[in-house]
Amino acid sequence: MWCFVVGNVVLVLEMNKILGMQEYYKRFLVDKTPTGGVFAAKTPGCMITAYKSGKVLFQGSDCEKEAGKWSSPNGTSAAIPGGKKSSSLAKVKTAAGSGLPAGFSDWSVIGSDEVGTGDFFGPITVVAAYVRKTDIPWLKEIGVKDSKDLNDEKIVEIAKAIKNVVPFSLMTLKNEKYNQVQGAGMSQGKMKAFLHNQAILKVLEKIAPEKPDGILIDQFVQESTYFQHLRGQKAVARENVYFSTKAEGIHLAVAAASILARYAFIQYIDQMSEAAGFRIPKGAGSQVDEAAAKLIMKKGRDALPAFVKLHFANTEKAEKLVYKKRN
Ligand code: MN
Repeated sequence: MWCFVVGNVVLVLEMNKILGMQEYYKRFLVDKTPTGGVFAAKTPGCMITAYKSGKVLFQGSDCEKEAGKWSSPNGTSAAIPGGKKSSSLAKVKTAAGSGLPAGFSDWSVIGSDEVGTGDFFGPITVVAAYVRKTDIPWLKEIGVKDSKDLNDEKIVEIAKAIKNVVPFSLMTLKNEKYNQVQGAGMSQGKMKAFLHNQAILKVLEKIAPEKPDGILIDQFVQESTYFQHLRGQKAVARENVYFSTKAEGIHLAVAAASILARYAFIQYIDQMSEAAGFRIPKGAGSQVDEAAAKLIMKKGRDALPAFVKLHFANTEKAEKLVYKKRN
């Protein structure tokens, strides 16, 4: 029978344990091992792929049961190997074509991306994530790619599989704070610069003394503007930071960051929906006007600043709808 519900579990294990697994699964080994792989095995209910980075990927209907044989009770996140001083921040910034150094997509990179800037409801979430070059093969296999090509269900599935194994930092700018700083005249560009910068600094702290080969930000302003926004702030040295539009397609670190940022955003909207008592829509189309009108009718106009980005044109449209409904 076909099984359409495919789960994913990722463990981080010591190499001697991985070699023990290879022995354990020797009846099920498959010939083809992926790039960066130690072995691949296929049992009736689970595909197991072990990588040199220590990550072991379990895919299939029995993946949880199979992974359970190997996971220690204290979880996997603590087992992420850190402290490898192999790479130092690269200084080369000359590039062919895209403005990035040749071979950049195979570097160990911190990538950052944001979600929610165009959504009337909900916060801005920014994530910076560190992807080591040895992690690229299993991340590809698990389906990490541009989050715009993934539906919410897939985003949640992948985010759950990577959140305990990929070092990352999440910054959430909640609506009340957003409205406050926006009302005081801060541009979205400046907010984003702050959030990206903070997320990146946090990840650098998390992975220290290991250092990435480079940092890639999904570009939302000109590089010079970004650093102008950060004047007077503790920021990452300019020579280590790269900017690119559509960066999710350039390095998996940005793709992973965009997935984790969207996962956080989805969760936040779920919480908001619960608080509102009805399903909160995403985006900035007419459906959010209707939802905001409903919210005002239910909870009063004062409830709005905790839910939406007030300066959007949607606020006025919602108020007009409420007026129409009441008269
Ligand atoms: Mn982006």
